[in-house]
Amino acid sequence: MHAVLDRLGLGERNPGTWIGAEAAAADGTLIDSFNPATGERIASVIATAPEDYDRLVEAAAEAARAWRRIPAPVRGEAVRRIGNALRDDKDALGSLVSLEMGKIKAEGDGEVQEMIDIADFAVGQARMLYGKTMHSERPEHRMYEQWHPLGVVGTISAFNFPVAVYAWNAFIAAVCGNVNIWKPSPKTPLCGVAVQTIVNRALADMDLPPVFFLINDAGTELAERFVDDERVALISFTGSSAVGRKVGERVAARMGKCLLELGGNNAIVVDEYANLDLAVPSIVFGSVGTAGQRCTTTRRVLVHESRFAELKDALLRAYRQVRIGDPLDPNTLMGPLIDEAAVARTEAAAAAVRSNGGEVLCGAERVKGPGHFITPAIAVAENAWPIVQTETFGPLLYLISFSNLDEAIELQNGVRQGLSSAIFTDNLQNAEYFLSHGGSDCGIANVNIGTSGAEIGGAFGGEKETGGGREAGSDSWRAYMRRQTNTINWGKELPLAQGIRFDL
Ligand code: NAD
Repeated sequence: MHAVLDRLGLGERNPGTWIGAEAAAADGTLIDSFNPATGERIASVIATAPEDYDRLVEAAAEAARAWRRIPAPVRGEAVRRIGNALRDDKDALGSLVSLEMGKIKAEGDGEVQEMIDIADFAVGQARMLYGKTMHSERPEHRMYEQWHPLGVVGTISAFNFPVAVYAWNAFIAAVCGNVNIWKPSPKTPLCGVAVQTIVNRALADMDLPPVFFLINDAGTELAERFVDDERVALISFTGSSAVGRKVGERVAARMGKCLLELGGNNAIVVDEYANLDLAVPSIVFGSVGTAGQRCTTTRRVLVHESRFAELKDALLRAYRQVRIGDPLDPNTLMGPLIDEAAVARTEAAAAAVRSNGGEVLCGAERVKGPGHFITPAIAVAENAWPIVQTETFGPLLYLISFSNLDEAIELQNGVRQGLSSAIFTDNLQNAEYFLSHGGSDCGIANVNIGTSGAEIGGAFGGEKETGGGREAGSDSWRAYMRRQTNTINWGKELPLAQGIRFDL
């Protein structure tokens, strides 16, 4: 453990407030970071003091004015260097993610790989901040649109992706000409400081204004001030729908821009033509991976009644093989939940299933000993039950049966969230129907791969209570820029639009 912290420049008490490479005061409220696999304290991060916050946002606003003047491909070069620094520290940072958040090492490393991938993507994007040209209706006029930086972008991230979500936002925002202030989750503050240190090192010899800023908040006071701050043009928020709704309302009240990436309640449809050799591992990875603490975790399996018994048996067999334990042990498939409250919520959800008359087929049992471990659960349930309508952030999978595809799609869409969805089928019509306008209402819809995880090349996000935001690939970069339409008259006349005459 100490080798990992040393490698990442982390000590016992770490500054949590950074104006680029400059750290603020070494005193203040401590945010303790705990290892969820043991319950032990790892180290602490010093929370941002209110006066430091003000100084930091002023510095960010000033830096934004300088950074936007730097050509986009040069901004891309800065992100390229960060990507390379992350390559150097992938193993250590992946271990820290695993240590502090509790996901298994392969997933911790995978998260860092996602940072590297989005860095590469952002470098290319820096040369592709394209606008359109239009044909003017007026003679000797030219019209086009261009994209300008917003200024200061604020990123608030959730505990379950303590580093990748930052990279999705900060790297794309940076090549677009913005500076980024990051507020990580107080459950994973060390990851925030480690990433800041890597970024600082990567940019040390580039003579740039500070572009990447870090604040830390033990509670929600500073976070709310950040959300309300008119100097922050965009708040990109990743977290629960309950908090995201409040954030969205507050940012709307000041007419700021907001990007929301909120909770999911993702389903896999297994129809009568499904290949279970593909479906079963996808469901198990989707429901048990990250101990059920992904926004894209598979929470519901909607299975055709003719395949119900077969799928249920196959899942129970597979669940018995899930090895629970230390997330840094390469043999472990499922680590702990983030804290005691998460274990209690998962237990309570299983109890709610039983009180509704459902059957918990396996799991939802605490593992004795230190750490926040619980066994992964499968329950037979009904879609309409309030507990099934709720995103319980743990390894609890609901099995629900259907008799025809229309019903399955109705069930799939019959929740308030709209993030990720999938169908397993070898029937072309069913697959296309699921992807059509009458099919899944989610931001992500897949065929013969599960709901969990996504490649950075596509736009990531979901509908309804998932918030409507899109991040990472495709044209998501536009969320970090403001659009401007320009008309240029290169003639000697002054014709008005729509043929209007206004003779003086
Ligand atoms: P959370 O909503 O409790 O916290 C998210 C962040 O919001 C944290 O940084 C927290 O400190 C901050 N916060 C809390 N109260 C705030 C307030 N009043 N104002 C401003 N910020 C505040 O979520 P969590 O438990 O950390 O993460 C799990 C949730 O995040 C799940 O619902 C999951 O689905 C969702 N999530 C969504 C995505 C996505 O891309 N859609 C990705 C990861 C996680």
